[in-house]
Amino acid sequence: MHAMATQSSQETISKFDKYVVSNYRRYPVCIVQGEGSYVWDAEGRRYLDLFPGWGCNVLGHSPPAVVRALQEQAEKLIHVPNSWYTEAQGEFAEMLCTRSFGKAFFCNSGAEANEAAIKIARAAKAGVGRYRIISFENGFHGRTFGALTATAQPKYHEGFHPLLPGFRYAPYNNLDAVKQLIDQETAAIMLEPVQGEGGVNIATTEFLQGLRALCDAEGILLIFDEVQSGSGRTGEWFGYQHSGVEPDIMSLAKGLAAGVAAGAVICRDEVAACLKPGMHGSTFGGNPLAMAAGIATFRTIEEEGLLDNAKEMGEKFRERFEQIAEELPIVQEIRIRGMMIGMELKISAMPAVAKCMERGVLINATHDTVIRLLPPLNITPEQVDEGCDVLLEVLREMAQQVS
Ligand SMILES: *Cc1c(COP(=O)(O)O)cnc(C)c1O
Repeated sequence: MHAMATQSSQETISKFDKYVVSNYRRYPVCIVQGEGSYVWDAEGRRYLDLFPGWGCNVLGHSPPAVVRALQEQAEKLIHVPNSWYTEAQGEFAEMLCTRSFGKAFFCNSGAEANEAAIKIARAAKAGVGRYRIISFENGFHGRTFGALTATAQPKYHEGFHPLLPGFRYAPYNNLDAVKQLIDQETAAIMLEPVQGEGGVNIATTEFLQGLRALCDAEGILLIFDEVQSGSGRTGEWFGYQHSGVEPDIMSLAKGLAAGVAAGAVICRDEVAACLKPGMHGSTFGGNPLAMAAGIATFRTIEEEGLLDNAKEMGEKFRERFEQIAEELPIVQEIRIRGMMIGMELKISAMPAVAKCMERGVLINATHDTVIRLLPPLNITPEQVDEGCDVLLEVLREMAQQVS
């Protein structure tokens, strides 16, 4: 297989320079094709992608079952708005809710899912005068105003004040701090069961149980942002299932349809009932193409036993990472849950990204010091080894530079 480029990377980059808003830092290559864990750039160079689609591509690039589902659906119907019923939306809602709880509302992205979650929580508690939401330091919930305000990282707020009123921030995994912030106006507590962008920080089961008990005692809704940790990513269908603590509202996106834009909010029946026709909506939400892709995604994860594979490969990464940590004292901590993988360094992890790319492996670094991988759930042991071999080489080089 080789890439089907129609122009060089440089030609594409020139168009971007002239016509595309420069709000992203981009690597100076144009990706033209992908298959499974590999992508090719316009020059025909192959990369092992351990961070496909920022975690959206849970089945790797262009998974055949999803491609087929999209082709078949596109020939029948591409878009029908929510003024009608469509088979695919009903079927995908059933697949999601029978694996979690409640009822589903569909949208197109993570930020939108969180906006909907915030609106649902406020609508559910409007009658009792509760509107405040507590979210957590180092969380990430998206870029629209509600989701941005929930994101308790000052760097994302810069230039955008005033934000949405009613938010308070607590340190993660600190139940006492949450208790201090609760009052008669608190409507919801919102968090990622595993923080992604914040550095792959895993909530302890005791913390989640404590939040659940607190919410039940005070009449507060518990919202889990599973945009990154959901859709099989952690080796369970949803991240909360590792703890057994069920939220009242859960937001999903990223891996939901294996890279096709799709978002969803799952809410308990009583909470869902507070949204009456006309209160919220999304023109593209739940469109047949995205729903067909979602159905194919969940079906493939199930049929190919990919939740188990995600767990097993997560443990394989752990073994390899532990060996690296033994050799290299620059490694601070390893945090892994299925295919949500973090390695915190004592030095900046940022240089590792370019160094790995030079050697044909795509990774991410977040929160300055954390190497983050979100490999597809169907990664093979050989690919884990291939990636870890390169990472070890790169980290050795970085360790040498500090010593
Ligand atoms: C990526 C992400 C979002 C935002 O999703 P978008 O689709 O970019 O709006 C929200 N929450 C979490 C946990 C995420 O990882």
